[in-house]
Amino acid sequence: MGRGSGMVASGILTHWPMTLIDTHAHLCAPEFAADLEAVLARSRSAGVSGIVTVGENLADARRNLELAELHPGLIAPAGGLFPTVLDESAAVSLEAHIREHRGRWIAIGEVGLDYWKVQDEAGRELQRDILRRFVALAVELDLPLNVHSRSAGHHTIEFLLREGATVVQMHAFDGRAARAEAGVEAGFFFSIPPSVVRSPQKQKLVKRLPLSCLLLETDSPVLGPVPEARNEPANVVIALEAIAELKAVPRQEVEEAIAENTRRLYGWWFG
Ligand SMILES: [Zn+2]
Repeated sequence: MGRGSGMVASGILTHWPMTLIDTHAHLCAPEFAADLEAVLARSRSAGVSGIVTVGENLADARRNLELAELHPGLIAPAGGLFPTVLDESAAVSLEAHIREHRGRWIAIGEVGLDYWKVQDEAGRELQRDILRRFVALAVELDLPLNVHSRSAGHHTIEFLLREGATVVQMHAFDGRAARAEAGVEAGFFFSIPPSVVRSPQKQKLVKRLPLSCLLLETDSPVLGPVPEARNEPANVVIALEAIAELKAVPRQEVEEAIAENTRRLYGWWFG
């Protein structure tokens, strides 16, 4: 399945079945092993019609493919190597796995840079080498990148632009809002997690970024409204309501705008 025609065609549709999409969750995480069905039932009740499940390693990528098979139409799988995994051979194995199952992925992710956990220059250089591989793979397979950038917001945006990435979702961007501008100009999307209700940085980001680049995410099981409590996809509603309040725009209008943004990035899958 490639992007292409679905995205072009989607521009002329006036009715779209997508409602709320959680564009970044880790359903493959052990935190969901015991009660995933109940978690999914709650998300459906909350109006969630799609979940992009990202991965941090090869086992996650495999699990995400299984989950997508079990829940077609609801769960969309991504595969990636978390940026704190400084292991080029792991990246090579994951690349091979993603290529082997080409046509089954919605995105490459979670990939990116993390300058919070990795502080030495050699480690950061290796992170960039690994990210370069995944950018090339995303371009080759015509897939969006679902990107982590902890304490490396503007570095990551600049790197992605230099490497020729064009279809990009920056997840839980933690840099200063002004640092996101280059990404906005390049057409990158920025997904907002429920932790926005307790994060002044995220609140500033929402106020500053145009509604036309925002998406909803949860980063489940983390980044929920309550620190330490397990987060889940139903909580995208909390992020939606926070965005409406921060932007002083009616919830319905925000929901429609975000559905349109999500359709531009992922409509070829969920449509
Ligand atoms: Zn994540």
